[in-house]
Amino acid sequence: MSPVYLDNNATTRTDPAVVQAMLPFFSEHFGNASSTHVFGEKVGEALRAARKQLQALLGAAYDHEIIFTSGGTESDNAALLSALEGQEGRDEIVTTKVEHQAILAVVAHLEKTRGIKVHQIGVDRQGRLDMDAYAAALGPRTALASVMWANNETGTLFPVNELAQMAHAAGALFHSDAVQAVGKVPMDLKSMEIDMLSLSGHKLHGPKGIGALYVKKGVKFKPLIRGGHQERGRRGGTENVPGIIGLGAAAELALAHLEEESTRVKALRDRLEQGVLQQIPHTLLNGEPGNRLPNTANIAFEYLDGEAVLTHLNRAGIATSTGSACTSGSTEPSHVLRAMDLPATALHGAIRFSLSRENSGEDVDRVLEVLPDIITKLRDMSPAWKNRQGEPASSHA
Ligand SMILES: *Cc1c(COP(=O)(O)O)cnc(C)c1O
Repeated sequence: MSPVYLDNNATTRTDPAVVQAMLPFFSEHFGNASSTHVFGEKVGEALRAARKQLQALLGAAYDHEIIFTSGGTESDNAALLSALEGQEGRDEIVTTKVEHQAILAVVAHLEKTRGIKVHQIGVDRQGRLDMDAYAAALGPRTALASVMWANNETGTLFPVNELAQMAHAAGALFHSDAVQAVGKVPMDLKSMEIDMLSLSGHKLHGPKGIGALYVKKGVKFKPLIRGGHQERGRRGGTENVPGIIGLGAAAELALAHLEEESTRVKALRDRLEQGVLQQIPHTLLNGEPGNRLPNTANIAFEYLDGEAVLTHLNRAGIATSTGSACTSGSTEPSHVLRAMDLPATALHGAIRFSLSRENSGEDVDRVLEVLPDIITKLRDMSPAWKNRQGEPASSHA
């Protein structure tokens, strides 16, 4: 039996149709888009078409609002640094405690090296942003508020347009790391107040090492990478042409599949979740149940170590994650679950199942077949589980 892949928030398989679209742009159409001869013109046209495919997926008003980058991390870096340049008197950033490392590591660095004041807003037990604290943190010194569209560990969705309106009322810019949301939830950026938005190819069945930053028309942008005048002078360097073509193709496929697949994937996710919660005692669903990405299920198994569950699932041919791939391997509990103030009994025991349009009902069946036994076996060996049985049952809702 081939292994089941349920770690699509870490990366997705590049769609074979995407690979087919990319292939001619290695050796056949190899020109430099900046060249004014037939080899370059051909590539320039293809890049314009890819930009339009991405524009359509985002519901952006103009294709030139899209800057191609090397991925989500570069887009996040570029957005944060741009906002701090050229906004006289504004040197503070408002963000959250549950962002991806691509935001958190940058703001920590800015705080340390430039004395930038960073407000990291907390979340409640279901992962919802503390709106009062967010409102209170915005002020005349805020350069940028940056809040992810969807959390990569729990799938919880944030009210980004409302948050953007609040940032604008304080005269600040608003950025969203939408790496997990693009291609999974419908978007219409032309009717929203978001100024900048990050996305990544490999999270939506496109290639790795390519992404984009959306910058709304009229928003001042200072490049992170200076060089040639590619991307209208906003991102120097000869374009990653096969990557951009692949991202465009992936965007077109995502848009074509969005409605039908998000419904189908959500039904699979819900069946997986309900099966696990019903069959296995002392399990907690992490995230706001009715307000999440359709593909993500984050479940904590109390009194267990998520790493052990992951290892056993992997041996049974099921690939999952304990949270963010970037922090796996460490024994520190997830910063997201910590911010959600999970009970100590559950903090170390979370597993993230993340599905995609490539998953089937059989994949869910496999999990429901093997997981209850894995949990029972691990709990039989767990001192924490045994000790719990001596405690009053009331403390284990
Ligand atoms: C994966 C991810 C990133 C990083 O994107 P890369 O293209 O891998 O650099 C940033 N933010 C979130 C929320 C992600 O899930």
